[in-house]
Amino acid sequence: MDTVLVAGGAGYIGSHTLVELISAGLKVIVIDNLCNGSKVALDQVRLITGQEVRFYHGEVQDRALLNRALMENSVSAVIHFAGLKAVGESSQRPIEYYQNNVTGSLVLLDAMHEAGVKRLVFSSSATVYGSDSPVPYVESLETGNTSNPYGTTKWVVEQVLKDAVYADPELSVALLRYFNPVGAHPSGLIGEDPHGIPNNLLPYIAQVAVGKRAELSVFGDDYPTADGTCERDYLHVVDLAKGHVRALEWLAQNRGAAAFNLGTGNATSVLQIIRAFEEASGVTIPYRIAPRRAGDLPAFWADASKAERMLGWKAELGLAEMMADTWRWQSRNPNGYRSVEQGQGHLAIA
Ligand code: NAD
Ligand code: UDP
Repeated sequence: MDTVLVAGGAGYIGSHTLVELISAGLKVIVIDNLCNGSKVALDQVRLITGQEVRFYHGEVQDRALLNRALMENSVSAVIHFAGLKAVGESSQRPIEYYQNNVTGSLVLLDAMHEAGVKRLVFSSSATVYGSDSPVPYVESLETGNTSNPYGTTKWVVEQVLKDAVYADPELSVALLRYFNPVGAHPSGLIGEDPHGIPNNLLPYIAQVAVGKRAELSVFGDDYPTADGTCERDYLHVVDLAKGHVRALEWLAQNRGAAAFNLGTGNATSVLQIIRAFEEASGVTIPYRIAPRRAGDLPAFWADASKAERMLGWKAELGLAEMMADTWRWQSRNPNGYRSVEQGQGHLAIA
């Protein structure tokens, strides 16, 4: 059976992807330093799938650990989620971000090269399109006019991977440019569990809904959009996870590097998200309009037709499912994986 090394597999998108990989009949191993992930997520993946996930606790920059993981398993492909992702924090701590996201990718790529592993899926981001790109974003647009160090780390790694593919014609790389992943597995057993105060909209709303935070700040209502708040392309994390299985299938048949947008093609405003969440949960979300957040763009969404054409992937779940699944996860596990550990989670209630 093919084994996939999932770097960052104990995190939000990684844990959901493990479920889809196992469901597709693949064997998975995980490397994660748990800086923003949880070992409990891997236990929960076992509950959902019935399969044990072999876990290597540590750094993607730890070459000896990588060598061991690659040697002890017959790895045919790597999915690289192991990045730091907080945009604001990346401006405060740029060196840490370049070290983690760029150096980590270089070490991983070098270890793959030495072990003869030729397939890589890289977690990139819509942020590589930068601030001047027309919408919807299409893969053929120029990239690189990034507005924060986080985005620049993603752009730099994309360039590195393109160069690596040029130098090694046997290498195949999928650069998956995610739009805004939200939601949780419908079982309520895994979901997004950010350490500290959430930066992203949905985890923040979900924590307001369970009473952990008093109110949501809506960052700006004077943008040139229909209701004045920013618009984004939110997609269900289970759809996104399935995109990785399709990307692995593509890698098995193709050589070279290709970028794919993974989004729905729809734009939704912050106020529309609040209303959709309230409808799904029955909970009112107190909010106030706050100043714009530095670096936010008014509106962007995906042209996701390339992924449909070339990967056979299309987002299937709508806003109602995204909100209902977010609420199921958060309401059953108000403190995320700590609730599961303390026996206050879904399993204890069921
Ligand atoms: P996450 O923080 O939940 O998951 C990342 C995982 O990687 C965590 O478990 C963390 O502990 C681990 N990790 C980070 N650095 C590591 C290192 N040096 N060594 C070992 N493990 C490490 O984030 P996520 O939302 O699941 O995102 C996964 C990837 O997708 C990231 O690279 C992120 O930049 C990218 N991405 C995320 C979004 C989003 O909105 N969530 C959007 C676009 C791109
Ligand atoms: N947002 C907000 N309040 C918050 C967090 C986010 O109004 O507490 C807005 C943010 O300005 C953006 C949208 O929600 O317009 C999505 O933000 P998020 O950080 O989730 O994703 P981004 O698109 O910035 O990666």
